[in-house]
Amino acid sequence: MFLVCDGLRLRGVDERSIMYRGAIVKFFFCLTLTVVYAAAPCLAGEAHDARILFINSYHHGYSWSDGIEQGFRERIDATGRKVEISFEYLDSRQFPLGAHLDHVARSMAVKYADYRPNLVAVSDNAAFDFAIRNRERLFPGLPIVFSGYNNFRPDIIDGIANITGVNEEVDIPDTVEMALKVHPGTHTLVFILSTADASNKRMAEVAERSTLPKLRERFDIVVLKDAPLEEVRRRLEKLPRKTVVFLCGQISDDLGAGRALTPMENGRLVTANSPFPTYTFWDFHLNTGVIGGHILTGQDQGRLQAELALRVLAGTPADTIPVVMTSPTSDIFDYRVMERFGVKPGNLPLNSIIINHPSSPWESYRWQILGIMALLALETLLIAVLVRITRDRRRALDDLAQERKSLERRVDERTAELKMANEQLALLSFKDGLTGLANRRRFDEVLEGEILRLARSGQPLSLIILDVDSFKNFNDTYGHVAGDDCLRRVGGLIDSLVNRPPDLAARYGGEEFTVILPETNSQGAARLAEHIRVGIEQLAIPHATSRAADHITASLGVATVFPSALTAGNDLVKLADEQLYRAKSAGRNRLSADVEQAAVNGG
Ligand code: GH3
Ligand code: MG
Ligand code: MG
Repeated sequence: MFLVCDGLRLRGVDERSIMYRGAIVKFFFCLTLTVVYAAAPCLAGEAHDARILFINSYHHGYSWSDGIEQGFRERIDATGRKVEISFEYLDSRQFPLGAHLDHVARSMAVKYADYRPNLVAVSDNAAFDFAIRNRERLFPGLPIVFSGYNNFRPDIIDGIANITGVNEEVDIPDTVEMALKVHPGTHTLVFILSTADASNKRMAEVAERSTLPKLRERFDIVVLKDAPLEEVRRRLEKLPRKTVVFLCGQISDDLGAGRALTPMENGRLVTANSPFPTYTFWDFHLNTGVIGGHILTGQDQGRLQAELALRVLAGTPADTIPVVMTSPTSDIFDYRVMERFGVKPGNLPLNSIIINHPSSPWESYRWQILGIMALLALETLLIAVLVRITRDRRRALDDLAQERKSLERRVDERTAELKMANEQLALLSFKDGLTGLANRRRFDEVLEGEILRLARSGQPLSLIILDVDSFKNFNDTYGHVAGDDCLRRVGGLIDSLVNRPPDLAARYGGEEFTVILPETNSQGAARLAEHIRVGIEQLAIPHATSRAADHITASLGVATVFPSALTAGNDLVKLADEQLYRAKSAGRNRLSADVEQAAVNGG
């Protein structure tokens, strides 16, 4: 197909793109071929190195033969060999064996015409007989490996070529001894026997010939042979409490089934009507109400049969392998029935297998429980982590709040300190350190302020300048400490006399003081100046070297102006200073005042 594509010339289509497409198609074609070749062996089916035809006497679902099949398969599979097993079922329990078997054989001849097994395995009597009878027609020359031929005697295979097998021997005394140990004090033993088929008949023969005579010496023995269910029930009802029943065969009636009862049906009917623990010898009775027994399992038998089949497949002629006789291998008990008869696991023989044991919640839900526990543990861990985180967070928030409070407190403290320091600073910068009066800076500020204010209101402004007389001499005579003290006293006096709110007393410098008197005319100012002068005299500070008196005195100059916007502080100071000079010149210890000057202008 891709060749056709390659050869096409399409108008309007790029030739190169067609070429690429062809290459891609080729690639996938080759890939498909490779995959098909590689997968061919798988698709054709696996190659087997041997084939076995397994003919079963019964049907699928019949527990005993299912067990044999299972054991057989398990053993073959365990070798790892690729053995193909075809199963045929004669259904001898459901359909009485008869003429139809001939049709079955013919059908199989057609079915297996082109399929030749390496070996024929048969399970139980019906299949054994069928295989021998149809051997030549169906699989001439093939070896036969059988299992469980009831009523087996070595001579049965005399004259049959290429055959071997495994057969069981049921052991009644072993099971009886075991039951007696499980139920100490037992004095009555019941044996249900039957002659219904070959296997039952053989069991009954063995029991009556060798087992029962010996037991009769020690126990009351009740034999129910070929008894119908009703009789079984009636007889058992009358027996004493310490009785054990052994199910060695079928009951005689079919209860309307129109065919032989299956072993399971038989087991269920007997145990349902038995007030005593019922023992068995075969695993097919398990789960029908029997308590257990020393049991031969189908699986064991199947495994042994497979063992023999493998030897034959490996090349050993079947004739040279002797028939293997097996006996019960496992002590198996049904927990539900044990409970019904009060049997504790401790009463059982060592290594007993207990079926139907209710598993503990731990056994049933181990992974779910572990999963839930792991989830719970994880959840607990997460909760713990969450709690821890929350606690840490709360602690951190508390610490933060604490820190903020202490910070606020510190800020408040610092603010208060700062305020105090500021006040102190303001105070210090306005005050004279020696006398406590306003200092020169404050004086200048207030003077300028008052000039501006009074210039607007048109009120007078007076200024007194005071100078201590002959103060140099005072210092020279009494020393600077006495001089300082004198200045302090003079300052204090001035302060005490100047008490109107807008008035301001200041130390102008050295031994000079000033008093600003806003809204005060020259008379008023002169009056106050005189008060001060008298006050200083009255301080009566001795001054021996004064040129004015024998005590401290002062000279005062008073000036008054009506300030205008152009008036400067210095102008007023100059005027007052002139008056002071006059007072000094006039002999000291006096005052000199000018009359009010209207609008003193600088310059
Ligand atoms: P007059 O009567 O002419 O004013 O003479 P006087 O000696 O007072 O004047 P002068 O200006 O010659 O001397 C002023 C003196 O005042 C000089 C200085 O020793 C003194 N003095 C200035 N300030 C202080 C001070 O703060 N403390 C002391 N103890 N003396 C001061
Ligand atoms: Mg002076
Ligand atoms: Mg002086």
